[in-house]
Amino acid sequence: MINRIKYLRISLLNSCNLNCFYCRPPQQENDTYVTKNYDNFQNSIKLLHTLGVEKIRFTGGEPTLYKQLPELIQFVKKTNPDIHTAMTSNAILLKKKAKTFADAGLDSVNISIDTLDENRFCSVTGRNKYKDMIDGIKESIKYIPKVKLNTVLIRGTNDDEAHDLIQFANKLKVDIRFIEFMPTKLNSENSDQYISGDEIKASLPYDFKPIKNDPSTAARYETSSDLDINVGFINPVSHSFCAMCNRIRLTSDGRLYGCLFSGESFNLFDALAKGYDVATNEVHQLVANKQYKGCSRKTGDSAFFPSFVNMGG
Ligand code: SAM
Repeated sequence: MINRIKYLRISLLNSCNLNCFYCRPPQQENDTYVTKNYDNFQNSIKLLHTLGVEKIRFTGGEPTLYKQLPELIQFVKKTNPDIHTAMTSNAILLKKKAKTFADAGLDSVNISIDTLDENRFCSVTGRNKYKDMIDGIKESIKYIPKVKLNTVLIRGTNDDEAHDLIQFANKLKVDIRFIEFMPTKLNSENSDQYISGDEIKASLPYDFKPIKNDPSTAARYETSSDLDINVGFINPVSHSFCAMCNRIRLTSDGRLYGCLFSGESFNLFDALAKGYDVATNEVHQLVANKQYKGCSRKTGDSAFFPSFVNMGG
């Protein structure tokens, strides 16, 4: 048993159908459907559930591009129907696929939305797909039991939209969370783009009151008499929540990481090929050495900057 570790995030692929400037370097659109490593993902899930994982989030890249995602969700639910299955998506393909994922057993989806301005969407993502995102959000609300919106506010890019985004979420009756812009290979030298969650909150015209939070979730939720929804603030840079961390992360090439901001990892697919005992030992070792020291920018440790498109945000 890996005691506190309950939550596995799997980056199924590092392809995406958007090219958000702050997430991945400019490159050709690559929305080919991928089926790589399906058996390895199944075996990894089986082992890590045996060791205590109770919640699995599929991310990427863009997880909806992974051809066998419905089968993988079904596999998780067949392994144990009580495992919570979640996904983080840009929603571009969800108009077509939300029902398929829901039918397979997807319990929740977090949808990334950084702007409500169509032109700005094009300049942030490099793609003319704003309407697909909006349609995908609406279709997800119809079929997937729990939908939340996630926004990364970046100074000089979309920091004037927090209020409009909350109003948008409120109309749809879905919670929205603001995630602090974290340092990566792409943005570490541009820290003036970073805005703290406290600054965002202070700029908003609501009488926020904190609600009781599950201590292991990263978001701190607030409510307001003017809103029907909760607004969450995920502040990994300004207020480290490492002490409560219950996560590990698997990348599409099989590397298991204890933390987004630690370079320590091993290849779980290779370890599983040597046998469950070998893999179990390596998982125990990784978890025992898991670091709880915040984001690199805060600690001044610049040795390892994650790439979200590979590690999964
Ligand atoms: N393609 C999916 C999506 O767009 O939600 C899943 C993968 S994407 C890497 C997951 C999330 O990571 C997105 O919400 C994105 O905004 C966020 N992200 C990327 N780079 C980030 C950074 N430097 N700081 C904070 N969040 C970041």
